[in-house]
Amino acid sequence: MGNIVAIVGRPNVGKSTLYNRLTETRKAIVDDMSGVTRDRHYGLAEWTDKTFTVIDTGGYVANSEDIFEIAIREQVLIAIEEATAIIFMVDVTTGITDLDDDIAGILRRSKKPVFVTANKVDNNMLLAEAAQFYSFGLGEIYSLSSMTGSGTGELLDDVIKTF
Ligand code: GDP
Ligand code: MG
Repeated sequence: MGNIVAIVGRPNVGKSTLYNRLTETRKAIVDDMSGVTRDRHYGLAEWTDKTFTVIDTGGYVANSEDIFEIAIREQVLIAIEEATAIIFMVDVTTGITDLDDDIAGILRRSKKPVFVTANKVDNNMLLAEAAQFYSFGLGEIYSLSSMTGSGTGELLDDVIKTF
């Protein structure tokens, strides 16, 4: 499948919104490839001269908080295994949760490039809030709004450098 970019993070941070945006122009191919497994969607994306596969993780069916966490953890481990680069998405409007800290801990132990993305930075007022995510110890923070698309270019410029 060539280069693979996995989007991981807890529910509701905006992973699918970013995935849809990145794979928008390749809708037919997304539809063909989705449903490979219930928990993961694969789609093709391109940025400048690079084409790559994006994996949207999530869509878990879980009936308890514990099972939920186990499912997310498993997705992160699979992403570490098979992705070229990992987008770790967090939500600037809620700030850091325990689950975010858990995921960050797993990602710190991996050797794959990790891009911490602070999503829902819909306006400049929220930009300062994104600095809290430096505490993950995972390097640079990419502030973006998956909804408007602002900031996604800067992220993708750096992601494709890892290919
Ligand atoms: P996922 O569970 O991580 O896949 O998150 P979704 O992509 O389903 O998004 C969860 C909610 O956050 C939805 O209501 C989205 O419309 C909203 N959302 C996603 N991205 C943004 C964003 O950049 N700004 C704002 N304000 N809301 C967003
Ligand atoms: Mg989703």
